[in-house]
Amino acid sequence: MARNDGRSPDALRPISFARNYTKHAPGSVLVSFGDTRVLCTAMYTDGVPPFLQGRGQGWLTAEYSMLPSATKDRKSRDKAGKVDGRSVEIQRLIGRSLRGVVELAKMTERTVWIDCDVLQADGGTRTAAITGTYVALYDLFKHMEQKRLLRAWPLASQVAAVSVGVVGGEVLVDLNYAEDSKAETDMNLVMTGEGKFIEVQGAAEGAPFSQVELDGMLRHGQAAISKLFELQRAALAG
Ligand code: UDP
Repeated sequence: MARNDGRSPDALRPISFARNYTKHAPGSVLVSFGDTRVLCTAMYTDGVPPFLQGRGQGWLTAEYSMLPSATKDRKSRDKAGKVDGRSVEIQRLIGRSLRGVVELAKMTERTVWIDCDVLQADGGTRTAAITGTYVALYDLFKHMEQKRLLRAWPLASQVAAVSVGVVGGEVLVDLNYAEDSKAETDMNLVMTGEGKFIEVQGAAEGAPFSQVELDGMLRHGQAAISKLFELQRAALAG
């Protein structure tokens, strides 16, 4: 079955990372996965939350939101007391994913703030956010290293994420909204540069999935994430 944008089942959409996209955040990356566009910024503040104070280590936290015009039907802004449960779920995933590759003990008592704002949504906003944030975080840590705010380099590995799913009985990589909305199974994979998993979120939205389909999703997802690692490295080398 042909994909609506002509891609092969295992192909990513066109991926790009625009670094230094805004000027005030030391890490600022506009990541594009096809028509999905997410601004990922990384900044730091002095101090850590109370439960970590006095240990000499750092912390990293993330927030995620979609702009009202990011979707076809206007989406209300997240406001205090009215943050969408979906945003909370996604920002916790982004925080866990990045903390999975950051050695907090190599920081000093400072908090890294990751902000992911979806400018345009076309499926896979959380996986684009994680993948783009890695590049922004690298730039932030370079900035902090130059200012001698780190004990040692805190990034233990790369991290990237991709969505995979089963649509019409076929395993597809990096689903766009049209595909996501009719997927029988929807899965998000987060992996490290060492090829280990940080998170596997998979659920049958329609028909339950088989072991063969699960294996296919993991295999195609891993291959796509390897390509994302190459693209991140190319962006950071540029
Ligand atoms: N979406 C939307 N409005 C919403 C939530 C989602 O239009 O309130 C669309 C958007 O294109 C998004 C897609 O549905 O990218 C898939 O959403 P999902 O919750 O699966 O997260 P994502 O795939 O973006 O990480």
